[in-house]
Amino acid sequence: MHPELAADLDRLPALLEETRQRAVAFLGGLDQRPVVTSAGAPAPVSLGDGGGIGLRAALAEFAERWEPRLSASAGPRYFGFVTGGATPAALAGDWLTAAADQNSNSSLDPAGQHLERETVGWLRELFGLSAAHTGTFVSGATMSNTVGLAIAREWLGERLGVDVAEDGAGALGRVRVLSGSAHSSIAKALSVLGLGRSALTAVPTLPGREAVDPAELERALAEADGPCVVVANAGTVNTVDFDDLRAIAALRERYDFWLHVDGAFGAFAALTPEHAGLVAGLDLADSVCVDLHKWLNVPYDSAVQFTRRRDLQARVFQNAAAYLGPLGEHPDLVHLTPENSHRLRALAAWFTLRAYGRAGHREIVERCVAGARALGEAVAGTDGLRLLAPVRLNVVCFTLAEDPTAERLADLAAEVAGEAFFTPTRYAGVPALRAAFSNWRTTEADVRRTAEALARAVVKSA
Ligand SMILES: *Cc1c(COP(=O)(O)O)cnc(C)c1O
Repeated sequence: MHPELAADLDRLPALLEETRQRAVAFLGGLDQRPVVTSAGAPAPVSLGDGGGIGLRAALAEFAERWEPRLSASAGPRYFGFVTGGATPAALAGDWLTAAADQNSNSSLDPAGQHLERETVGWLRELFGLSAAHTGTFVSGATMSNTVGLAIAREWLGERLGVDVAEDGAGALGRVRVLSGSAHSSIAKALSVLGLGRSALTAVPTLPGREAVDPAELERALAEADGPCVVVANAGTVNTVDFDDLRAIAALRERYDFWLHVDGAFGAFAALTPEHAGLVAGLDLADSVCVDLHKWLNVPYDSAVQFTRRRDLQARVFQNAAAYLGPLGEHPDLVHLTPENSHRLRALAAWFTLRAYGRAGHREIVERCVAGARALGEAVAGTDGLRLLAPVRLNVVCFTLAEDPTAERLADLAAEVAGEAFFTPTRYAGVPALRAAFSNWRTTEADVRRTAEALARAVVKSA
């Protein structure tokens, strides 16, 4: 064994303890750290061709060169994109995932996939899905959407009497994917799947809304020649608008389509009685995407993909090899996602669900919604700022009252970046900023601190 490896093995308990202390210091310093910094990369260090420096020295170098540049994305005022943190239990689960280093893809070594199935069962209960849905862990909502649409592609083949897994997407001819306000990852998925970005057809939304107009969707379905795919959106990123899932599902009585629901973060509305109606009908979907590194607050990267047609999923993703078993009634995970090897990603979700339960995660969702409402009210009451859309759930979409150019908004965001982080967008043709609440640590005090920083920055920018 190389001497540095042998030495680190000898002092492994002490080194892991030092690593733990670094993590504790990082988390303890979240509040003091700028929420984002614009620092570039440090001066490069060459690997050289000799030995390394050992873990202890590597820790010290990381602490000096890289750690100061990291954002406080795990903290309570990182409102960019839709970003979750990591609950204590989720963090512990993620540490143990790396320590155990399982490849949970096959019944030859089954514990990991049994644990994933237990976790998927809990998630199904959380979102009100029936046992007709099976689920698989993947790396994020983009991957979940990609897998869902891959199953949809296979279903189109079944309808048209062609075998896409065998003969390729070309056998389908032109495919139509209808959606009101699809997330950008849908077009990316269609590109990956060989259906093409142009397969995505935007369907008009309700007036002043991002939710699809069911009458317009029906018109588009009537025009479509043959079976197609509908992507329903449960939680859009600008205004957290929801398509009427039951109304869309009811259209299947007259039209032949696969219903995929992108509920990346919106599916968490199911946890609160006040908002559960927004995702009524979710169980009727053929495939469902839910991100977990957003509102479940497990570390990156984690999402789940649910479907009613695991048989088609296995047709797409099966991996035949001598050492892998037959598909059988419960196909191994190696046959269900684009990956072959499969991290025990479910463990972080397992821990947070077990530790805090439905009530604990409901409290996170409700506190985030209350925080978004409070920031929305503060923005509406701040001279120089304007709310662009009502705060429907956990996102505040706002802009400058006067001359809201992308440049001026970027300056405003940069001015508050030490205190709070927002990401730019365009809504209804107007450049804007978004604040998305999805971190378990965010409190009323964070909302006040954010509102005050914004108010100061607006005065400065005037
Ligand atoms: C975040 C998001 C995605 C993409 O998620 P990743 O985890 O970044 O891949 C897809 N759809 C919606 C609605 C989202 O909010």
